Formats: sequence, structure tokens, C-alpha cells
Amino acid sequence: MKAAVMEGVRQPLVVREVQDPQCSAHGVIVRVEANGICRSDWHYWNGDWSWIGVAPRLPHVLGHEFCGVIEEAGPEVRGLKPGQRVVVAFSQGEGTCEQCRSGHSNVCNTPLVPGMTYWGGFARYVAVPYADVNVVRLPEAIGFVEAASMGCRFMTAFHGIVDRAQVKPGQWVAVYGCGGLGLSAVHVAAATGANVIGVDLDPAKLEMAKKLGAIHVVNAKETEPTKAVRQLSGGGAHVAVDALGIAQTCRNAALSLRRRGRMLQLGLTSQSEKGEIALPIDRLVLMEQSVIGSVGMPAADYPQLLRLVESRRLVPGSLVTATVPLEKSSEVLEQMTSFANLGVTVIDRY
Ligand SMILES: [Zn+2]
Ligand SMILES: [Zn+2]
Repeated sequence: MKAAVMEGVRQPLVVREVQDPQCSAHGVIVRVEANGICRSDWHYWNGDWSWIGVAPRLPHVLGHEFCGVIEEAGPEVRGLKPGQRVVVAFSQGEGTCEQCRSGHSNVCNTPLVPGMTYWGGFARYVAVPYADVNVVRLPEAIGFVEAASMGCRFMTAFHGIVDRAQVKPGQWVAVYGCGGLGLSAVHVAAATGANVIGVDLDPAKLEMAKKLGAIHVVNAKETEPTKAVRQLSGGGAHVAVDALGIAQTCRNAALSLRRRGRMLQLGLTSQSEKGEIALPIDRLVLMEQSVIGSVGMPAADYPQLLRLVESRRLVPGSLVTATVPLEKSSEVLEQMTSFANLGVTVIDRY
């Protein structure tokens, strides 16, 4: 099959033929029809996350936001068969540990991530393990390009905003960083009925945040954002989201909260933080604020999200700004180094 192969850290991906993947007894082979290019791909390509014990074994195939059609199903798979359209959750489990069995497969004791722990969707075919746990039927009404954007950033934002931070209608939500993940958080929080403030340095990203439902935007290049958020929200956000994972956005999110506010950490850190960021702890104690980590979404929660997309209450496709052939995927990763990308770019030609 054709794949864009990572042969070295920060080296251009090489599009070439590799061996077709083998289907396991409990897995399926998905013929990939679309795959979103995510900042997590960039992190992995950049050699980040050694501090949490993650490192690519080279050569490697990236890609964890994909959907497509089942080509083959192993003999132990019960709920899926060849020919079905599916979307694949990136935060995967094996289905039997304490977390999986209580509905939290996104934090499985043996975490599995396509494009990280095994070869992913920068290729025509992916062998997805434990398919009954990790693969979800995709309704006909939702196209592949739109569904690709739901495999990571959108479902991460949905789980974070709805389940972890428990955003309620009328609450103030500040979102720091309006890349693909941040814009997803803006859109989901706005659809939930929250008053959303988007914060970024790039006017084009802030413009997009407005289109996706932010009622205010703050350009942090021009205005000190924590003060602006506290003013706009009459005392601070109920929920502040760090959708980037750099020290500045993380601290700013914490400093934007009102009393008893919740900080939702969605971004993972890069080389300069290496997993550690200082936070205003005394303020947090005295104001009874919480810091909430959130990763991916259990695949079992997909039906709830898919219903909202089918009824167009949520429109993840509105985040997609470009589609590219597999050959261009390397270029898109390189653009991410300077944050030049707007919204979500999806590979849709293999
Ligand atoms: Zn598990
Ligand atoms: Zn991702």
C-alpha cells in the first residue's frame, strides 16, 4: 500500500510503497478515505513526549484522525463487517481493564493510539485492534472529510467541554489557542449555550472563532488577555481552556478563572515545557478552582456526538479549511512549526 513514511525526527515524510497491514483476530482493516492532520502528529514528528515515555520506532506512519470503510474483519469481531463506513477513535483501549469496563476506554491501562503506538492513517490501510471497542459506525449523512475531523480534536473538545468540565448554558468559557483543537472547543461550548471568548495571536484564527460561535475574541498580541477575559465575563471565566499546552496559555487560562472556576487542560506540552508548567497555586486554593485534565473520548460516547452532527447542531466540517493529497502531508506538518495553518487540514486522496 501507499504510505507517507516518517523516517527521521523532523525529516520530510517519504511517500512510498510499504507492506499491507495484517488483520488481527479482534481487529479490522480500515481502507482510509480521509485523515485529519493534527498537532499531535506534529508533536510526534517533532520528537516530543519522550518525558512521558513516548517515542516513535522508525520507520513510522503517523495519522490518528481517520475514517473509511472496513475492508476486512477478524474472526472475533462481533459488531462490524466489511463494507461498513466507520470512524475510528484515536484514544483506544483493549476493552477488559478497569477503565474500559467502566466506560473510560480513553484512559485504558494499556493505551493504544493509531499513528503512535501502531501505524496510522497517513496510509491507505490501517489495522485497528479491538475493533468492537474502538471503531464506530458512521451514519450515511456524515461525509468522510467531515468525519475525519472528528477522530481527535473535535471529540477531544466535546469530551472535555461536555463531560469533564461540565460546561452549562450561560457560563463563560475562555479558550486559549484557536488552532484545530481550540476552534473545536469554541464550537462545542457555543453549541452548549455557553458565552465563549476566543484568545489567540492570529487575527484570521480569531475571525474563525467568531464564525464558530465565540461572542468575543481577544488578540493577546494587543491586549493582556487574562484581564480582558475577567472584564468581559464580569469577574472571570467559569471554565478556561488551554487548547495549546504552552506555559503562557496554560498560566493565562488559570489566571482567567473566577472563584470556583474550572481550568480544562486539553493541550499537551512541547520541548520547552517538557510536561511541567508552573501555576498560581495559592490563587487556586483561595478561589477553590480546579484543574481538569482531559484526553480524547471513549468510543462508546460517539453516538451522542454523531447525533448532534447529524442534526447539524454541531458542524465539525466547518473547521476544515483545506483537503490535500497524501503527498502534501509533509508540507502541512512543516507549516505547523510556525503555526501557519488555519483550522483543520484533511488528507482525502491516497
Ligand atoms: Zn482498557
Ligand atoms: Zn490529534
